[in-house]
Amino acid sequence: MASVIVVGGGAAGLVAAWRAASQGHAVTLLEANGRLGVKLRISGGGKCNITHDGPPKALLAAFSKDQARFLRPSLHAFGNGAVLDLLRREGVETYTRENGRVFPQDRPGSAAAVVAAFETLVRRVGVDVHTGARVTALEGRMAGQEGGAPRLAALRLGETRMEADHVILATGGASYPETGTRGEVLGWLRELGVPVKPWFPALAPIPLARPRPAWEGVALRNGELRLSAGPAGRRLAAFAGDVLFTRTGISGPAALELSQAVERARRDGAAWLTHASLLEAPEAVDAALQAEARANPRLRAATWLQRRLPERLVEDLLPEAGVGRDLMLKDLSKVGRRTLVGLVTALPLGAPQPVPLARGEVAAGGVDLVAVDPRTMALRGWENLRVCGELLDLDGPVGGYNLQAAFSTGYAAGTI
Ligand SMILES: Cc1cc2nc3c(=O)[nH]c(=O)nc-3n(C[C@H](O)[C@H](O)[C@H](O)COP(=O)(O)OP(=O)(O)OC[C@H]3O[C@@H](n4cnc5c(N)ncnc54)[C@H](O)[C@@H]3O)c2cc1C
Repeated sequence: MASVIVVGGGAAGLVAAWRAASQGHAVTLLEANGRLGVKLRISGGGKCNITHDGPPKALLAAFSKDQARFLRPSLHAFGNGAVLDLLRREGVETYTRENGRVFPQDRPGSAAAVVAAFETLVRRVGVDVHTGARVTALEGRMAGQEGGAPRLAALRLGETRMEADHVILATGGASYPETGTRGEVLGWLRELGVPVKPWFPALAPIPLARPRPAWEGVALRNGELRLSAGPAGRRLAAFAGDVLFTRTGISGPAALELSQAVERARRDGAAWLTHASLLEAPEAVDAALQAEARANPRLRAATWLQRRLPERLVEDLLPEAGVGRDLMLKDLSKVGRRTLVGLVTALPLGAPQPVPLARGEVAAGGVDLVAVDPRTMALRGWENLRVCGELLDLDGPVGGYNLQAAFSTGYAAGTI
């Protein structure tokens, strides 16, 4: 029997602690918050998108190549089926939406039911749970006399020094710091010589240099959000999905998914956003508009546009573009036609402002995957240190992938 300290009582830490204690180890779980699973409780808007349906190969395809390669062994050992079986045995029934996202059965506080299930699991196997216990430092020393000897880690909780045969760090990312994840552990690891990648915003709303507060709450559906290097620059990335206007910019699935690329382009000096409601080429839309003008010459330009864009946008955009509200298609000039086509094929949203790390559903960056054994989550060159969950340089898209990555890597870390 080994002694194990798990730091962080979120998705990864709960699974790591449960797994290690299930194997007969003496496990202590230290969680900074007054209760366990605070971020889990707000996940999926309080509904908790636990995982994604499908075979391991399909789940891995949602991650970058390097991340998928790293995740493969742990996902095979503890995949979506294993997570759902475990929860089902604790009374959490789930269902799968058409888009493959798996949720607990709909009822108020369903995310809290997931946390309650994990809490029951860790307590049943005898994990010694300490809440309100924020680890304040990480110390390392050489385990042997020789130069290449592995290092040993110890923790500090204020004045108290804690050692164990195994220390598992499951302290999460750096977004939503109010949920306990301040990201400081990554800095400690860097100081101890562990290769890390700095935290970077991901899956976050995008503030715009010219926000449209009057459009707050309006959604652009079934289109594509596009990122280019400047207004006339080359296309860098695009994401199909809904965009939602907020007071300060844009949110919604397409904005979240594109946010990391947007911030990278912004830091590189040139980022520009447009939205295409119609995914056809501008020439095809122009031809369709001309055909419409011939078939229906008295149709108002505003009406044509309202069939393709939300009314609230049309009310503002037409006067801004110098097209009269009552102008009929038969009276539309070539320039006016180009304007209408432009609004539905490349609505300019403009330059982004810095994407906030704190508002991301996940934080990109973390412990460099090359420094970690993907089967055990052990840090290379360390005798007793493992890392798992969002603290690793892992970030998947929206859809249950990030929690699954936390569960899988937590399970691997707890397998001792
Ligand atoms: C609003 C929101 C919604 C989300 N929705 C979903 C979703 O529906 N599906 C999905 O797959 N993913 C979702 N995510 C992402 C998902 O919640 C995270 O990827 C996941 O929680 C990461 O698990 P983790 O255990 O690594 O970290 P966390 O769950 O963040 O747990 C880390 C824990 O470590 C503790 N801790 C940190 N530092 C210390 C310290 N020094 N000492 C002691 N304890 C410490 C923290 O208090 C925290 O409880 C969402 C995220 C957010 C912010």
